[in-house]
Amino acid sequence: MSRPISSLEAYWGPFDRPVSVFLLESRGRLAELGLLRPLPDWVSSFTHWPHFFFQVYDGSSPEFRGLQHEFCHLFIWQKLSRKLPAWIEEGICEALSAMPDPRPIRAELMEKPFAEWDTPTLLDLDPGPLPENQAYRKCHSFVRYLIQKEGWERFRASLDDSNENVVKRLCALEPQWKDAISAAAIPEASETGVP
Ligand SMILES: [Zn+2]
Repeated sequence: MSRPISSLEAYWGPFDRPVSVFLLESRGRLAELGLLRPLPDWVSSFTHWPHFFFQVYDGSSPEFRGLQHEFCHLFIWQKLSRKLPAWIEEGICEALSAMPDPRPIRAELMEKPFAEWDTPTLLDLDPGPLPENQAYRKCHSFVRYLIQKEGWERFRASLDDSNENVVKRLCALEPQWKDAISAAAIPEASETGVP
């Protein structure tokens, strides 16, 4: 369990307080605990405010990237003492845990600006047939672009502002990111061609 944490400490510093981690052996246990609505099949990890981490555990090794993503939520909540809007928070968790380029991204998600993503989770935004919610990909690509452009330290420092100001700042940068990725001639998502 320590490697996914130590790799994130390079960004956040150490946890300020201990975190509680729970591994659940099946999805059925989720329903029994009454914690969450049903999750799509591709979700194997999730985190619950304020510091519980769950991973549906099937006996194989917990997936490293999934662990990193969930621990990143815990770092955000401890270091900022709040949650960020879902699209920003998931983008950070993806960008700091998933190194591969997240594209392609479904066209209709590209066209709907982040300012209109007024939803507590991203799971509702992409009901498409692909095995991964592409709303995460868009957030990931955007945050990844900003971290590369501004540097982690500056990006991280900007998160200390209020959520309202963080949203304002990032929404203003969305067109710039779209220009940058369209200039790079990125293919649009197809219904079948996404790994
Ligand atoms: Zn997440």
